[in-house]
Amino acid sequence: MMDDQFARNTDDNAALTARARTVMPGGVAHEARYAEPHAKYISHAAGARKWDVEGKEYIDYAMGSASLLLGHAHPDIVAALVEQAPKGTFFADCHPLELEWAGLISDLIPSADQVRFTGSGTESTMLAMRLGRARSGRPRILRIDGHYHGWHDHVLKGMTPGANAVVSLGVPDAIADLVQVAPPDVEVIERTLASDADIGTLIVEASGANYGVVPLPDGFLAEARRLADAHGLVLIFDEVITGFRWSPGGRQAIDGVTPDLTTLAKILTGGLPGGAVAGKREVMRYLDPGETIDAMTPAVTHKGTFNGNPLAAASGVACLKHLATGEPQARADVVAETLREGMREVLGRLGVEGTAYGDSSTFHLYFGPCPSADIRDIPAADVRASAKTASAALNRGLGERGIDLMSRMSGVTSAAHTDDDLARTLDAFEATVREMADTGIFTG
Ligand code: PLP
Repeated sequence: MMDDQFARNTDDNAALTARARTVMPGGVAHEARYAEPHAKYISHAAGARKWDVEGKEYIDYAMGSASLLLGHAHPDIVAALVEQAPKGTFFADCHPLELEWAGLISDLIPSADQVRFTGSGTESTMLAMRLGRARSGRPRILRIDGHYHGWHDHVLKGMTPGANAVVSLGVPDAIADLVQVAPPDVEVIERTLASDADIGTLIVEASGANYGVVPLPDGFLAEARRLADAHGLVLIFDEVITGFRWSPGGRQAIDGVTPDLTTLAKILTGGLPGGAVAGKREVMRYLDPGETIDAMTPAVTHKGTFNGNPLAAASGVACLKHLATGEPQARADVVAETLREGMREVLGRLGVEGTAYGDSSTFHLYFGPCPSADIRDIPAADVRASAKTASAALNRGLGERGIDLMSRMSGVTSAAHTDDDLARTLDAFEATVREMADTGIFTG
């Protein structure tokens, strides 16, 4: 049924890519979607599956860049959108749904005394950092090496692990110089803070770098809170991925550590564009246009045409009502754990050195010697190097077999993945690893 309904596009992936490259740089709207010899064009998706314009089916572990914990086209989210769209897609006014949405967020996320909606995760970290500067009165930001916080000017230095450099042209040194990069090492951070009184904000990806490719040391978030308190910093947890996924209250609810500000997006909207900063009242009040602080009203300016958009709000409310129960997260976690175990079993049986690891509903692969079961015993640089060597062959092999990862050697699961999806994924994984082994990729 699905195939008939969506079989209107007669173009193939290669033809669409060629046309796209004439009207869009690289033919893409996001540089990570660029692929050689061509990108894949998806025509439709449902649950944990998606289909390209040539009719090829994928079991999806990208899941809308981790925004779809309930799966593609969840009936309650579709119904919420269908109900809202005829009432109007945008008013540029306040509306009741945004209030319901903010209320759900503040019920779930511990730091969320108040919520300000934004247009994306990038806008959320940009606003949170501005708030950090305003509240602390200090210009410099401390960030952790390799953590991802979006693409605006202030988060590019330190994005590429170990480089301590801006990964783009067009960012002035004056901005890069406001950012200090540190490893997730409490002693180093303590020394950095002691020697730099201009640092007033600390931002951390709550999972560790790249949704947990390089996990944080145990207790790091609590130490970050202690250091922030000791040095008068505004502490930001970037929970754009972990928010609502690690638990209904995100990673902060699991660790029992409350930041001053939390950045959210992705799952927040049930897969529509949007984001939010959810923070403590004493910091969020800087955004209140009814309040004057240090002769500025509002103290921190923030605009954004589509903030709190009614369609995103409708979808977000429908999604968060499910996630408040914790049940979708529990299913997605079981799916990921089953995959991680199954992948480790395949590697062991084939005699390939490596492991599958990850928290919550994520999985990451590493190929190489494993001194222990804890990935943190392997230097982060080695974990990253393994991805450089193996990810192209891994993704090619999995892709040919109808499995789509989210990035390099990592994926996310959803509540919609079935046991059949898992069995097919593990079969595809085994065939791919055998093929990789045959090419000598693990020995050479
Ligand atoms: N922060 C984290 C932890 C992310 O993973 C992302 C996106 O993947 C962002 C921020 C940026 O979000 P967006 O892509 O919505 O701008």
